Amino acid sequence: MRYDMPLYRPPSEADALIFQVTLGCSWNQCLFCGMYKGKRYQVRPWEAIEKDIIEMSYAQPLTTRVFLADGDALGVKTDHLLKVMTLINERFKRLERISIYAGPTNLKEKTLSELKALKDLKLDILYLGIETGNDELLRRIHKGATSQEIIAGARKAIDAGLRLSTIILLGLGGEHGSFTHAKDSAEVVNAIDPHFLACLTLMLGPYQSLYEEKLMGGGFKLPDKRQTLQELRWFVEDLSLSDCRFGTEHASNYLPIGGQLGADKERILAMIDRALKDDRLLRPEWARGL
Ligand code: SF4
Repeated sequence: MRYDMPLYRPPSEADALIFQVTLGCSWNQCLFCGMYKGKRYQVRPWEAIEKDIIEMSYAQPLTTRVFLADGDALGVKTDHLLKVMTLINERFKRLERISIYAGPTNLKEKTLSELKALKDLKLDILYLGIETGNDELLRRIHKGATSQEIIAGARKAIDAGLRLSTIILLGLGGEHGSFTHAKDSAEVVNAIDPHFLACLTLMLGPYQSLYEEKLMGGGFKLPDKRQTLQELRWFVEDLSLSDCRFGTEHASNYLPIGGQLGADKERILAMIDRALKDDRLLRPEWARGL
């Protein structure tokens, strides 16, 4: 099997066998995201996917975890996805779970019964970038959904029995929008009550000036490390989650922490507070994003 590069997967899917159901992202408009800007979106033909699955069922017959790429493979028509997942189930007898990236627009389009049918074929974890709960920011970054639409789609997935892994992007609102970004994001995450929650820190690289210009007309400034940590504090202090694995271990973050929310909330807040007083606890700039 040959992959069409670049190929991305969540860090937690490092052990999964990846099949590319699509190339690129069907939405591909989020202002901060350059992952698939160089790829023309397409759903790969059934014959090509079938060939990959059969080939890999001989090469790696003991596979237990599968990840479906690229960017938002959940956007593929349900019939096509069911066909792909049926063959994966048939060919990998030890299969435990299938995971997939999902965009808010995909979840708007899928019905509850479609999601349940996918769940019946071992679809388990959806990776969903919420990014922010602030509606003005969602509009500016071209996320393609309002906060209420994101909540409705995410709750529908949970009602279908799927597990949700969600992402909030620190720094997205810049210095000036930091507080409202943190508070509105906590409100949306609370309404969803996901199984997993990760914070990443916005790193724009060559897209910085484009982002600044399009988002804020030149007035945008990324928060520095201390302001980013304060934003994380504002966000976490408002979280009220029943049982969620929370983490900031991603290489983009200044302070890697993890725990279970709500049980570990006070410990996590205490760690943030310690770091706010002592810069030495933070990941140095050169080590971020490696
Ligand atoms: S939906 Fe995801 S992959 Fe697609 S452009 Fe937005 S952030 Fe990037």
